[in-house]
Amino acid sequence: MTRRPRIALALSFLVAAAGDAQQPAPAPAPLAITAVKTGRLVDPETGKISSNQVILVEGEKIKAVGAGLAIPAGATVIDLSDLTVLPGLVDTHTHLGLTYKDIPEHDYYYLTYVMDSTPLRAIQAASNGIQLLNSGFTVVRDLGNNALYTDTAHRVAIDQGWIPGPTMVNSGLIIGGRGGQFWPTPEMAKQHGIVYPEYLDADTPDEIVKAVRENMLFGAKVIKICVDCKPWGYTVDEMKLFVAEAAKGGLKVAGHVQTPEGASRAIEAGLWSIEHGFALTEAHHKLMAQKGIFLASTDTPFTPYHGTKEAMEKAAAQLKSAWKSGVKVTFSTDMDYYKTGNDMNRGELTINFLLTWKAAGIPAPDILKAMTTTGFACAQVEKERGAIRPGLAADFIAVRGNPLEDIDTLRDVRFVMKDGLVFKQGGVMTPEKFFHAGPAKGWRKR
Ligand SMILES: [Zn+2]
Repeated sequence: MTRRPRIALALSFLVAAAGDAQQPAPAPAPLAITAVKTGRLVDPETGKISSNQVILVEGEKIKAVGAGLAIPAGATVIDLSDLTVLPGLVDTHTHLGLTYKDIPEHDYYYLTYVMDSTPLRAIQAASNGIQLLNSGFTVVRDLGNNALYTDTAHRVAIDQGWIPGPTMVNSGLIIGGRGGQFWPTPEMAKQHGIVYPEYLDADTPDEIVKAVRENMLFGAKVIKICVDCKPWGYTVDEMKLFVAEAAKGGLKVAGHVQTPEGASRAIEAGLWSIEHGFALTEAHHKLMAQKGIFLASTDTPFTPYHGTKEAMEKAAAQLKSAWKSGVKVTFSTDMDYYKTGNDMNRGELTINFLLTWKAAGIPAPDILKAMTTTGFACAQVEKERGAIRPGLAADFIAVRGNPLEDIDTLRDVRFVMKDGLVFKQGGVMTPEKFFHAGPAKGWRKR
């Protein structure tokens, strides 16, 4: 009690001192200008390519794009005139905080959840994000299975400027009927101490509302639900409740679908995106095209380290059907594994999903559109970033060949700029500008 007047007195001195010392605020330092000379510049939306364009970058944003732009005095010049510049890439369905391994758990992800703690998985996620940026992925939707909100911490760390990584649209915990995607033992399910940070149970309308609000409270930017992981699944009305509640926070709903019946209900309910394509028929594709629902079909290729020939052929046929039906197809992977003895990193494993897109016979310009324009729209970032256009974030990459003719040129990304900072140049990561002793972009970003 006796201390309060003293504190008040001290505060009044501080206020007075601050008032006395008031000076006009110093003018903010001018933003750094970078001029990027491009050999060829690709617009994936129109499929057009133009020569000798200059991109002027001011601070974090693109200021101007055009041929023969005057380069302001004092600008840093980056010469990419022997390369093709294009927007960064999008993976609309990945799991940065999940890496199951053939040793010791034999790719059995129940065991990963038990053996890898939330903090360890957060560090794995940070590394995976850096590897994805190295392969040109500047935006990802990170759709759950990230222990206890490592995805939110990861997004905030990138947004505040602690570490480099793709712009993340994260789902927080996956919401499902009791049990989520698993069939737990009573010991697992009742305590919820292990494995169950991966899923948020919601069986009734009240629980659905609470679960959506809880995820939004803890930093989700998209709501991910298990549509039909259990025989009881979610009804159309229940999914409409998810959509309405998420909309209050400006969020969309992505639905994991694994049965034809679940797909029909999810489409009828008007979810924003359908996750996984294996249960979808041509009739589903036609309805999705009509309703403008995005598809993140997670098309696993057959490789020496993963997948089967039959599964890839089926995935390619279904992807082709979706593309021919006019569905808004996006590049998506469900990437979540590491193979001991395999020297591919997470970015290379991700870009290798091109194998399925090529097997589907989809032309390179349409694959590129799925990996950029449609991906930005699905991730809802297109008003801030994506296209190489004045006013948007300076995110872009460069490759040697022409990806409109040979999509495999994307496997060798030579240059990456993210939010106006050079992350990779001459094919080598140069991320030092991304590292700071504090939250360089401000601690208020949540
Ligand atoms: Zn997934």
